[in-house]
Amino acid sequence: MDDAMASETIFSQILRGELPCDEVYSDELCLAFRDIEPQAPVHILLIPRKPIVNLTHIDVEDKELLGHLLIIASKVARSEGLESWRTVVNNGVDAGQTVFHLHIHIIGGRPLSWPPG
Ligand code: 5GP
Repeated sequence: MDDAMASETIFSQILRGELPCDEVYSDELCLAFRDIEPQAPVHILLIPRKPIVNLTHIDVEDKELLGHLLIIASKVARSEGLESWRTVVNNGVDAGQTVFHLHIHIIGGRPLSWPPG
């Protein structure tokens, strides 16, 4: 899978405004919106505007962007009133990735068990 494939996912359609989303946060580098099938009271997806497939495909040039995403994940979680919350990045089919545009799940609002399945 190459980066060209990442540019045509459901998330790139959301980024282009072709599909609606329940937006939570937006800036020049990223967009956060509520997951369509929430697994917890709060389940938000944070995605870079840059079409990166997943963490296998990051490069050193993405350092600032990746740091920004974690800063925004924290900001979004706090804005949702969460004290305990989990970030998840499913990386590859066997890890449960279904949309091949990098995304950070921000999940909270209920006790979360460990280890994940
Ligand atoms: P993954 O399984 O790739 O880690 O996560 C993809 C997530 O995207 C899933 O939690 C799924 O519910 C969510 N999702 C898939 N399609 C849409 C959509 O069209 N809108 C929104 N808001 N979420 C979606």
